[in-house]
Amino acid sequence: MAAARKALNIRLPPLPSIKDVIRLYKLRALRELSQNFLMEPRLIDKIVRAAGNIENHVVCEVGPGPGGITRSIIQQAPRKLILIEKDPRFIPSLELLADACRDKVDVDIITGDILSTDIANFMPADVKTDWLDSPPPVNLIGNLPFSVSTILMIRWLEMISKQEGPWAFGRARMTLTFQKEVAERMAARILDSQRCRLSVMCQTWCNVNYKFDISGSAFLPKPDVDVGVVTLTPLKQPLIKLPFKMVEKVVRQIFSMRRKYSIRGAQTLFPEEVREEMALKMYQLADIDPVTRPYQIANMEFARLCEAYNEIIKKYPEFESYDYRAPKKDKQPQEAIEEK
Ligand code: SAM
Repeated sequence: MAAARKALNIRLPPLPSIKDVIRLYKLRALRELSQNFLMEPRLIDKIVRAAGNIENHVVCEVGPGPGGITRSIIQQAPRKLILIEKDPRFIPSLELLADACRDKVDVDIITGDILSTDIANFMPADVKTDWLDSPPPVNLIGNLPFSVSTILMIRWLEMISKQEGPWAFGRARMTLTFQKEVAERMAARILDSQRCRLSVMCQTWCNVNYKFDISGSAFLPKPDVDVGVVTLTPLKQPLIKLPFKMVEKVVRQIFSMRRKYSIRGAQTLFPEEVREEMALKMYQLADIDPVTRPYQIANMEFARLCEAYNEIIKKYPEFESYDYRAPKKDKQPQEAIEEK
């Protein structure tokens, strides 16, 4: 029988509790930065454990705040820890932690917005693996601020699709928290009432695993909603091998009329005068029943619909730039004339 691997565990010197850190540094939670701090070490460790073995890994934590999750990550002996925090008030308490593990973990503290920080700039080159290999020793972990979590996820999915940023180093894994409802949507499969654009987008590029819930009462201050912990591992091959923007457009329009037959949403991909004809052609090419509702379409069926759309666009390139949501240019003056 193989011997159990003995995990290297870093013991931190005695530190003030997170509650004391918040009090000592007068870190009043800011609503505008979605600051809800996790106070319970048992739950914090559970999130970090969900990331799997991170010993000797490069870990990037998004929004470390007062450093509860950061402590738990350090105890798992990563090689390098990149902390990206927008609120500079947390820097002294994070520096205290970096100091406590000096010589054992290389800690970079970046005061900045995760939406405009290129994590790749802080990654050591030697962690790079081939995309088709096992995931590299790189993990992105974060109790994400609600205000940016969905935007960030969509942005990261686009980067994954292009193998950019942290994903230029291979199929880096993510362990992230979201509002419970958003986490459920990300993992929702066909026929699930939560199924939406985010489900199809996440599952097209990643293996999505809903790990567990955390009650809102575990946070300080308590948010109005519960939280879901999700892990995502980029797929070796995306389910849809087309550009991100094109997939996003097709999936978004199909889900734009959730309760109607899905072809109604697909019609909005095309200008009014050809809408019915082109959407029907798209469904025929994809071999999908037009009276299917959006949540009844499987990921691979979305793949066929996107490919069918791509075929139509190749034949009629003028439809590609059509945007149903753009203001109708010629209607404005006409309406104005009629009003006079
Ligand atoms: N990790 C801490 C915990 O679990 O207790 C704090 C989590 S709190 C939900 C979100 C953290 O993200 C806060 O520290 C907040 O200041 C930070 N934050 C908010 N918006 C951010 C952004 N755009 N970029 C980086 N950090 C951000």
